[in-house]
Amino acid sequence: MDPAAEALAAGVLAGERRALARAITLVESSRREHQLRAQSLLEALSPHAGRSLRLGVSGAPGVGKSTLLEALGVHVAEEGRRVAVLAVDPSSAVSGGSILGDKTRMERLAQHPNAFIRPSPSRGTLGGVAEKTREAILLCEAAGYGVIIVETVGVGQSEIAVAGMVDMFVLLQLPHAGDELQALKKGIIELADVVVINKADLDARAAELARAQVQNVLTLLAPASPEWAPPVLAVSALTGAGVPGLWNEVTRFEAAMTASGELQARRRRQAVDWMWGLIDVELRARFRRHPAVRDSLDRLTAAVSRGALTPSAAALELLAAARENT
Ligand code: GDP
Repeated sequence: MDPAAEALAAGVLAGERRALARAITLVESSRREHQLRAQSLLEALSPHAGRSLRLGVSGAPGVGKSTLLEALGVHVAEEGRRVAVLAVDPSSAVSGGSILGDKTRMERLAQHPNAFIRPSPSRGTLGGVAEKTREAILLCEAAGYGVIIVETVGVGQSEIAVAGMVDMFVLLQLPHAGDELQALKKGIIELADVVVINKADLDARAAELARAQVQNVLTLLAPASPEWAPPVLAVSALTGAGVPGLWNEVTRFEAAMTASGELQARRRRQAVDWMWGLIDVELRARFRRHPAVRDSLDRLTAAVSRGALTPSAAALELLAAARENT
């Protein structure tokens, strides 16, 4: 490992926030020399990773994710656990920049000595989840953060991606009739280990009604784990009511799933999926770079979209082309 990467690794292991921030920037860089350095950094730090609870939090824009994460994060940090929030910045897809950096969101948490907040640009292939979120989780763990929260905007694909990289998935909903059906339609509610009905302070009766409805829907679904029936909680992120109760459910989940070995099994499945995800990305890139594929890709794509060629004939021809001279 080069001396710069070695110094960075030492800084991360010492729990220095600036080193951690720089390390995440390095793994997010698409420059070739940065990628090589990032790879050796990740190799060096991965033996120190894995000892955390990884939490995914998702919901539609405006549901109260950052307000809840601030309240929950401060609660956890006050208990003495170090908490890192990897927030996927919903604005950056449009503006190309990050507005989270101005600290208008999660201001109190950002100032807490036990907390680290990282906004990540949401460019990438996963519909809002930064491509390097898994690597960022690993780096936060190596820096000694015991609770890692990945925040994502609810757009379907990104929720599935986040659920595939965390131990526990928390879905936020508003107490409006119909919301629960939306999540059900998208197949998202099946991913939830806890559902939070937020803004219960606005209308306690509506919140309780929504809570009971969602709980009903959940009992109709086959549980993802025999050890855990996903609870539905009414919470107010703004007043903090119900936030300690939410944290209580999180720790109860952690204890039950660890004792049964399911948490470890989930992580093993995720590690294998991650490997295949990386292989898929690389194979696709190589396929597209292949000279014989490049020669005929546009022509065959146009033929398929015109209906002049069946998708399977085009795929067979391209796959055959990719075998030439390799
Ligand atoms: P996000 O887009 O999901 O991150 O949502 P925000 O956390 O930015 O919240 C959106 C708006 O809802 C803000 O104006 C918050 O102050 C407000 N809000 C969030 N949680 C609550 C809550 O529990 N009760 C009430 N009344 N307002 C809330």
